[in-house]
Amino acid sequence: MASDEFDIIRRHFNRPELAFAVPSVSLAIGDDCALLQPSPGCELAVSMDMLVEGVHFLPDCDPFQLGQRTLLVNLSDLAAMGARPLCFTLALSLPGSDAAWLTRFTAGLARVAGEHHCPLVGGDLTASAPPLAGRSGPLCLCVQVHGEVPAGTALRRSGARVGDAICVTGTLGDAAAGLRILRDGAWPTLPTPLRESLQQAFHAPQSRVAAGMALRGLASAAMDLSDGLASDLGHILQASGVGARVDVDALPLSEALCAAVAPQERLALALGGGDDYELCFTVAPQHLSVVQERLAALGTRVCQIGQITPGSTLQWWREGRELALKLRGYNHFHREGESA
Ligand code: ADP
Ligand code: MG
Repeated sequence: MASDEFDIIRRHFNRPELAFAVPSVSLAIGDDCALLQPSPGCELAVSMDMLVEGVHFLPDCDPFQLGQRTLLVNLSDLAAMGARPLCFTLALSLPGSDAAWLTRFTAGLARVAGEHHCPLVGGDLTASAPPLAGRSGPLCLCVQVHGEVPAGTALRRSGARVGDAICVTGTLGDAAAGLRILRDGAWPTLPTPLRESLQQAFHAPQSRVAAGMALRGLASAAMDLSDGLASDLGHILQASGVGARVDVDALPLSEALCAAVAPQERLALALGGGDDYELCFTVAPQHLSVVQERLAALGTRVCQIGQITPGSTLQWWREGRELALKLRGYNHFHREGESA
């Protein structure tokens, strides 16, 4: 795409709504590198997430929704570290150069970028219809986000201590249910507003950037939930060398999820479904009320679901009894039907 490539960048990506100026970026799109100027005393927080057609989104997905989601799932990693977004870069492998598609895709990106004062500062573009091979590859989108956090205050996975409360923001399982509706047409009799709220949870996860920043200095460990609580909480436990006891009746479930899904299946979606992009964090008991106040002030729902315990196991409890749950989050290299 020799000459078109630069035309596409100029027309679709290097636009003021998307590649706007901010003080922390001294040079943006157009040179070999962008130049960033983080605030004095801050560490740079960098994370990358790739979205592949057919793996992370459906082939007929609306491009505006896809643009929003592509940036939101990346910002979620900054939120999980308590970092403030600075800017992002974007690499795309495109099966074609459909101008209408690109216009809607970049409008979705720009909406989220503008809301978070996080401009596009560079990237790369290739055609996935390769001249050297017979078949075209899928649409592939790769974002790298850059954020900043005052040195030493980033929320890591490794700080959970025995006795800490385990909390999650928002509700769990909605995005996984939304994907079931989009992909399989599940629960056809569910009222339209509830269907739409579940689908929206998949398309545009709530941004928890402000919540993550509010947890600095309070949460002992944090991460964002992308693969499902059952597997993601395990990462905090492993990094911190602790165990946990989670009360499954305390899991925050939305009205829409409860209306759509039978109780037993709700647990599978809330714990193993993935795509929630909520924060899971631990906090020492003496800081819990301040955390609740700060998140309430942001309008962010927060819910204590359990406690950090000695040992290394993750236990699920209901009404004073341990449950034997066989759950696993999403894992790209695990094949259907294989045992753990
Ligand atoms: P180089 O060949 O030097 O790596 P490119 O020719 O790929 O650079 O890109 C030229 C400029 O356009 C660079 O500043 C690059 O960051 C930017 N750019 C390329 N693709 C994109 C994109 N998809 N979105 C935003 N900027 C891009
Ligand atoms: Mg170059």
